[in-house]
Amino acid sequence: MSIKTKLSIIMSCSVFVILVLNIALNYYTTEENLRQDSEMKMVLTAKQIAIAVEQNQYSSNYVTRQIGNNLWLASIIAAEELDPDINNITNEELVRLSQKVGVSHISLLEQTPDDIVVTRSSDPREIGLSTKSMSYWYEAFKQLFDKHQVTIPQGQTKDHFWSDGFEYSTSSPSDVDIWGYYHDGKRNYIINPFYNNAEVDDYVKISSPNEILNKIREVNPSILEITGINPLTFGSPTMNVDGRDEKFNKLNNKPIRFGTYQYGTAEEDHRAVVKAVRTGQNVTFVSQARGQKVLKSFIPIFAPNQSSYVISIVTDYRQISSMISEQLVSHASISLVLLEIVIFGSYLLAGYITRPIQSILDKVNDVADGHFDFRLKIRRRDELGQLANRINAMIRNLGHYTNRLKQMYEENRAVKEHLESVINQTADAIHITDLEGNVLRVNRAFEQLYGWKSREVEGRKLRIIPPDAEEEMLEQHAQLVEGLSITSNETVWMKKDGSRVEVSVSTAPVRDEEGEITALISVSRDITNRNRMEELLRRSEKLTTVGQLAAGVAHEIRNPLTTLRGFLQLQQQTNKLNHRHLDLMLSELDRINLIVGEFLILAKPQAVHFQDRDIRFILGDVISLLDSQAHLHGVEFILNASSESAMVHCEENQLKQVFINVLKNGMEAMPEGGAIRIKLKYMEEQQRVRIEIKDEGIGIPEEIMPKLGEPFFTNKETGTGLGLMVSQRIIQSHKGMMDIKSVMNKGTTVIIELPSSGLQQQEEKHQEEDEEEQPPLADKEN
Ligand code: ADP
Ligand code: MG
Repeated sequence: MSIKTKLSIIMSCSVFVILVLNIALNYYTTEENLRQDSEMKMVLTAKQIAIAVEQNQYSSNYVTRQIGNNLWLASIIAAEELDPDINNITNEELVRLSQKVGVSHISLLEQTPDDIVVTRSSDPREIGLSTKSMSYWYEAFKQLFDKHQVTIPQGQTKDHFWSDGFEYSTSSPSDVDIWGYYHDGKRNYIINPFYNNAEVDDYVKISSPNEILNKIREVNPSILEITGINPLTFGSPTMNVDGRDEKFNKLNNKPIRFGTYQYGTAEEDHRAVVKAVRTGQNVTFVSQARGQKVLKSFIPIFAPNQSSYVISIVTDYRQISSMISEQLVSHASISLVLLEIVIFGSYLLAGYITRPIQSILDKVNDVADGHFDFRLKIRRRDELGQLANRINAMIRNLGHYTNRLKQMYEENRAVKEHLESVINQTADAIHITDLEGNVLRVNRAFEQLYGWKSREVEGRKLRIIPPDAEEEMLEQHAQLVEGLSITSNETVWMKKDGSRVEVSVSTAPVRDEEGEITALISVSRDITNRNRMEELLRRSEKLTTVGQLAAGVAHEIRNPLTTLRGFLQLQQQTNKLNHRHLDLMLSELDRINLIVGEFLILAKPQAVHFQDRDIRFILGDVISLLDSQAHLHGVEFILNASSESAMVHCEENQLKQVFINVLKNGMEAMPEGGAIRIKLKYMEEQQRVRIEIKDEGIGIPEEIMPKLGEPFFTNKETGTGLGLMVSQRIIQSHKGMMDIKSVMNKGTTVIIELPSSGLQQQEEKHQEEDEEEQPPLADKEN
């Protein structure tokens, strides 16, 4: 769904919700207002009724008083006309008399021992009526007979006279009558004139508010019923549903004082009446009566001169309902029109708002497809305008960077391919491991050299380090992790099949972008062939040397042999054993043995066997081997060694070969003879042994200095040109250094430095061993 649709839906929905809320609120408040309105009206109506009732009461009182007066006057006239003894009076006489004085009827009441009874009357229905049960009436009659002033509060009292207000007749309960009672003490009866229904009809009309109620209902048709309720008797247990009560049936104590009671629900209404009287406030509620919904209001009326009462007004609720629904319909239709306008408007508005977003979206889609060569054209100053500007800038940068990225990617790819081919094509075995030693990758040469396929080793630990080299590897690993590189370390590793291979390994740490060491790259090269070659060279140089030495050795041996022969001849001639001669002969034999032994050691190919040896003794051996030859050429060796031991971890014969070659070169450079000074020094600080061999020979021309050490470079007729080369290799394999300095016609100095081996303690131990094995140096110089 597009933003436009969403926006317009959101706007429309919000307006819809507001409208619905508005209608609901309106409905509620309207209902409430209408209710309050009609309640107000009802209160007003009730007040009007109350006023009317009060006025009626006044006129009713007035009329009652007038009628009372009439009845009193009629009584006085009747008293004059009638015989004092009731026995002399006939009913016919009373008929006449009543017509004369203008009342409905006249009755006469006589006192019996326990009652007061009507005994004469113009109305035959009255005769025999007992009054004993007529509460205050009976009381009033007794007071009249006793010639007292009547003290009953009801009605009016005059001299010898008492009259009650309107009341239902006891003899004919459907009639409303008004009676007067007169007794002047001069006769044995009470004169009782009265008006009945027909006479007082008009008056009743005036005094009853029913007329007013009818009028009010005429002008206000929604009022269903108005009832005047007497709170004192309303709701008594004897009351009927229509409000009539057998017990309370007098005009002044009837539950319903005026009006009708047809919409009543006695219990509910009784509660309302009690509440209204107690609180003095009107009580209004909605109820159900005669199958319809009605609004009932109970308004308490407190009139000054009479007891309080409650006016109940029942209105038809349909009027309120219909007004509400009318209003609802009009509201809803207005809202509907409004909603349509809003939907339409919001759609337009959303379109206006989202149009730039759409165009931005289109362009962003283009960018996503990789087109950067266009710009957004949105000329607005709001946030969308700013967004468009920023997007333009972004597209520009994106285009720029994407191009650069492509370029760099290409370069990168080329470099990577190149590297890849270098790694794979190179003859050196390469393997890269992480710091834990797990293989990340190996190249083809690695596979060929060690026999492991890359899939067999990748992600695992390598098994090419033989157990005896592991310690060395751990040391190297520690150096590598600290960032140092290890170059051309010659060692022996293991192939997959378990066979050993001599390799020269260079290892370096690989760093990531942050400079952290993450991997190690090792390049190893099979040096078995090289070593074999070197061994061959070493041997051929050695053989040459041996050949050359042979003359010297022969000479050296011939001298003691001659001496021996001389002594033996002497023994033969004298036939006597001279002990001094024997000692000399033995020492000559020892010397021969030593020289031959040394010669053999040199000539014999031997297994490479590194040991801790003192250089002083090695040099001593070499000197004694060359000594006689040196003498032949008039050359003298001068050894200058410090008293400290100079222990080196070395292959003794190889070092001897070096020294023999250097010393021979020195001798050959001094055809006229001279001295060769040999200086030996242990440099404690560097833990190295330094040997300087200095001759006084012809020197080496500057231009051939760089060629020294090249195989077969010699400028001697019988030279091999291998000596220096082999010597250099040997010194290298001992992790040492060899340097040549020369001054033409002055001499040449060869400097050799070798790492000293280990602790002094060890050295001393070896020294002792050496001393046991080797004759002391001093002996050899002799
Ligand atoms: P060779 O002794 O068989 O010639 P070397 O390798 O021992 O081979 O020496 C190479 C060359 O270096 C010699 O031929 C010589 O010219 C020169 N050389 C070596 N040592 C000396 C020296 N002490 N004095 C002068 N020249 C030397
Ligand atoms: Mg030489």
